[in-house]
Amino acid sequence: MPVEQVDVLVVGAGQAGVAMSEHLSRNAIPHLVLERARIAEKWRSGRWDSLVANGPAWHDRFPGRAFDGDPEAFVGKEAVADYFAAYAKQIAAPIRCGVEVREVRRLDGRPGFRVDTSQGVVEAQSVVAATGPFQRPVFPRIVPESAGIRQLHSADYRNPGQLPEGAVLVVGAGASGAQIAEELLEAGRRVFIAIGPHDRPPRRYRGRDNVWWLGVLNKWDMAAPSSDTRHVTFAVSGAHGGETVDFRRLAQRGATLLGRAKAFADGVLTIEPGLAENLATGDQNYLSVLDEADAWVARNGADLPEEPEARVVLPDPACVTDPILSLDLAAEGIASIVWATGYGLDFGWLKVDAFDAAGKPKHQRGVSAEPGVYFLGLPWLSRRGSSFIWGVWHDASFIADQIAIQRSYRAYRAPAERAAEVA
Ligand SMILES: Cc1cc2nc3c(=O)[nH]c(=O)nc-3n(C[C@H](O)[C@H](O)[C@H](O)COP(=O)(O)OP(=O)(O)OC[C@H]3O[C@@H](n4cnc5c(N)ncnc54)[C@H](O)[C@@H]3O)c2cc1C
Repeated sequence: MPVEQVDVLVVGAGQAGVAMSEHLSRNAIPHLVLERARIAEKWRSGRWDSLVANGPAWHDRFPGRAFDGDPEAFVGKEAVADYFAAYAKQIAAPIRCGVEVREVRRLDGRPGFRVDTSQGVVEAQSVVAATGPFQRPVFPRIVPESAGIRQLHSADYRNPGQLPEGAVLVVGAGASGAQIAEELLEAGRRVFIAIGPHDRPPRRYRGRDNVWWLGVLNKWDMAAPSSDTRHVTFAVSGAHGGETVDFRRLAQRGATLLGRAKAFADGVLTIEPGLAENLATGDQNYLSVLDEADAWVARNGADLPEEPEARVVLPDPACVTDPILSLDLAAEGIASIVWATGYGLDFGWLKVDAFDAAGKPKHQRGVSAEPGVYFLGLPWLSRRGSSFIWGVWHDASFIADQIAIQRSYRAYRAPAERAAEVA
């Protein structure tokens, strides 16, 4: 049977794969998108039930389509998935769902790649890996299974009812940890939350949402930091119409704040000191955004109402001034732990020379070290916005351009070759 030939193969049909398809079509580049599940599957089955987008509908979208309804609303996860499915339809994206890419290897002695899939072999001149910024849950095995505590990663958390009765420890204070801890508190659980250094920008300031401030302050476009830059956890939330994440407020409502979880022995979790400093990094980030926003208002003479009350920081609760450094889980009635500890990459299927010794993709703005292989949707691929809905669309445009340029080199024929082809 002849092997199916495609010019560009895109792996994954999340927002990155859909954006890639749009830009390839704009460049009239034939392509195929293979998706192992459904379009935007992660928004459907890889997130908790109550999740809403972190940014308002007017912002967290592609330029070619608006969400139905209030543009200021924070859209629910199913509606986000529906949006991408509708978008794919609108642009007639050639997406084949239910096909997993199992292996990609460079062809021997001729250009292109052999792609082994769950439904046979495809050969492609170029491959775009759009398999997501968050592929493999990072699950620190600090507490052994033998401790008899229900443990799950935030990727598998769905709702409070899924957890056994009793108190819950949430580890991690990014967007996931902060939102899950709040939901558990609202469900009447006793909640402990382990907090490391983090950024926590204001949700709104002087009448504008955080996404707008990041835009006018050129933060979305901030270039990728160098590989030794510390990637700080980013605590934001669109829940309840969008509120600033404030761990002290969470404590006022009953949560117990802890430093980072360090080790476990004999039923006791050791907690790193430094909770107050970790909260201070969040405060610094929060206040720095207010300062930059105020400076922008002054420079531009913008008519945005002053908001001095935004600078009021709540007093430290007792769990901060007198921090807990060891936590007896049974004594506190903790029956489950949600590890909101982030994600890593897994490119085991991509057997090409595009990774460093540590397995990190080697690329520049998504153009990998292996000619013909591209990455899209990775955190900081080209800028801060790269893994977000808004940013991935622009990165896809750049990559489509690069693919078009390479195609034109491949199509080039010297005059003598052209003459020979005509003859
Ligand atoms: C909890 C959470 C909330 C977020 N909220 C927001 C938000 O509000 N706004 C925002 O802009 N960003 C948000 N993000 C970040 C980002 O937008 C999402 O992670 C988004 O899903 C990334 O889209 P993607 O297309 O790059 O990857 P994914 O959505 O992960 O899509 C990759 C696709 O590739 C498929 N795939 C993987 N491997 C293969 C294979 N071998 N063969 C075939 N198919 C494969 C998967 O099935 C998947 O459908 C959030 C992330 C998380 C974790």
